[in-house]
Amino acid sequence: MPVPLLTVDDLAVDYDGAVQALRGVSVRVDAGSVVAVLGSNGAGKTTLLRAISRSLGGVGGAVTAGRIHFDGHDLARRDAAGAVRAGLVQVPEGRRIFRDLTVAENLRAGASTVRDKRAREEAAERVFELFPILAERRHQRGGLLSGGQQQMLAMGRALMTSPTLLLLDEPSLGLAPQLVEQIGDIIGQIHAQGTSVLLIEQNAAMGLRVADRAYVLEVGTITAEGSSAELAATDEIRDRYLGVG
Ligand code: ATP
Repeated sequence: MPVPLLTVDDLAVDYDGAVQALRGVSVRVDAGSVVAVLGSNGAGKTTLLRAISRSLGGVGGAVTAGRIHFDGHDLARRDAAGAVRAGLVQVPEGRRIFRDLTVAENLRAGASTVRDKRAREEAAERVFELFPILAERRHQRGGLLSGGQQQMLAMGRALMTSPTLLLLDEPSLGLAPQLVEQIGDIIGQIHAQGTSVLLIEQNAAMGLRVADRAYVLEVGTITAEGSSAELAATDEIRDRYLGVG
């Protein structure tokens, strides 16, 4: 029996009390699964992630209806730091690493809420195992890394708190196809180590490859959902999102 880890029910989000970015959105991530939310530019994907990670406030957004439950917690009662403490960490779009800090310092910054030094060191070792290139470059400044390496650093930094659920905002954005594939493989490894993943992707091929289940978000509402295999076989998805058919 699947155990729900994250449940988003009938969510509505406005920006500045005017733009309605999401309407009646329901999404579920079961414990131990990888779920993708696919959709084109402006569909509301980032808004959905911000609502879940409790980071809408800083950008003028507000939840106007619906509920978000995560691992037994009602997220309406938590701020962004509280969501991280509950075990949910977001890797923002555009990586947002500290360019002037070294790789090791960036990782340490990601672990600022982890009090136990040993736990921090173990988390860093796990990240270096997952991303050997970051181990090689641990003393290099973040800003000197390639785009793909910066994406890895942003993911590694998020993993420093050993989250139960990792939220990824378009990890493939701006990366060459070979790197997209590599990031996809790494998501598979993160999953294999026991972390659940909610992945937002414009690159439907990548999303459907790594996810067990997927949703399609269009102009603020969910228009399709199912197992990745089911969705990949749908004519509409093939035509509109996979460019085949
Ligand atoms: P992208 O792939 O371009 O990031 P997206 O699917 O993530 O797109 P969102 O960024 O969530 O889409 O945007 C959804 C809608 O909300 C769009 O109409 C967008 O213009 C609007 N929006 C997003 N952020 C804000 C903001 N800070 N203030 C006002 N409107 C916003």
